[in-house]
Amino acid sequence: MKITLLGTGTPAPSLARQSSGYLFEVGDDLIVMDHGPGAHHRLIESGHRAVDVSHVFISHLHYDHCMDYTRLVLQRWDMGADRIPDLEVYGPAPIARMTELLFGEEGVYGPDIRARIEHESSIFVFEERGGKPPRKRPQPHVNEVHAGDVVQGKGWTVTVGNASHVQPQLECLAFRLDSEEGSVCYSGDSGGVCEELIDLARGCDVLIHMNHYLSGTEPTASYRKACGNHRDNAVIAKRAGVKTLVLTHVLAQIDRPEVREQIMLEIRDEFDGSVIWGEDLMQLTLDRSGLVKG
Ligand SMILES: [Zn+2]
Repeated sequence: MKITLLGTGTPAPSLARQSSGYLFEVGDDLIVMDHGPGAHHRLIESGHRAVDVSHVFISHLHYDHCMDYTRLVLQRWDMGADRIPDLEVYGPAPIARMTELLFGEEGVYGPDIRARIEHESSIFVFEERGGKPPRKRPQPHVNEVHAGDVVQGKGWTVTVGNASHVQPQLECLAFRLDSEEGSVCYSGDSGGVCEELIDLARGCDVLIHMNHYLSGTEPTASYRKACGNHRDNAVIAKRAGVKTLVLTHVLAQIDRPEVREQIMLEIRDEFDGSVIWGEDLMQLTLDRSGLVKG
């Protein structure tokens, strides 16, 4: 299994770190987890295209986790020219409504989609791409999922769990991906010591976890429970018994050598496994022995 970190940033503007996005190459499938602004650009930089993506999982509907979902769906539809299967989409409610409001007949992109289906010049381009009119509308298969759900793919399984983030305003999910080559858990956005996340991640080779803040600098207890800090992440990684912890969702305030070293050292005090400071376009490979290679 190959893992590519597409976006390791936050909602804050950054050229170094795009918003959340992760790519998993498992068997014949290309799975994207979260697709915030800039993540799609990184997908292209990683050598892939929207048409290559088979499945997308969205952890929660904060815009920094789903804004490029629009680009993924439209570009995949446009370039795919009805020659590829519809995208399989998984995420919390109301992702079905969001999808309809974006791509439905009366949706935000309704007029664009209609023009591309009906205008002669667009029909020409569609045919040049191998399509046979009449062109279908983009119709991603949207599956609203909740903690406890299991999605079975070809050679992989995704188990859905709860994260600790901004409930109840948004349902916030975490995902565990199991395959023959190993297991990886993605926290989505999660803070504090989330017991459900520890259960979900138990025994994983890799845990990709939000690391937004430096312990002790969070403004309130509620902020810590929603957005976490490095000491809580160390406890989660240790108690879940994962082999490698990948830190992501990094704010500029902590993205400095001296703070990074402090965070890594203090996590290693608590957690015996490997700790990786995530960067955009970093690639990790999991093989049958469970080892992670940079
Ligand atoms: Zn969030």
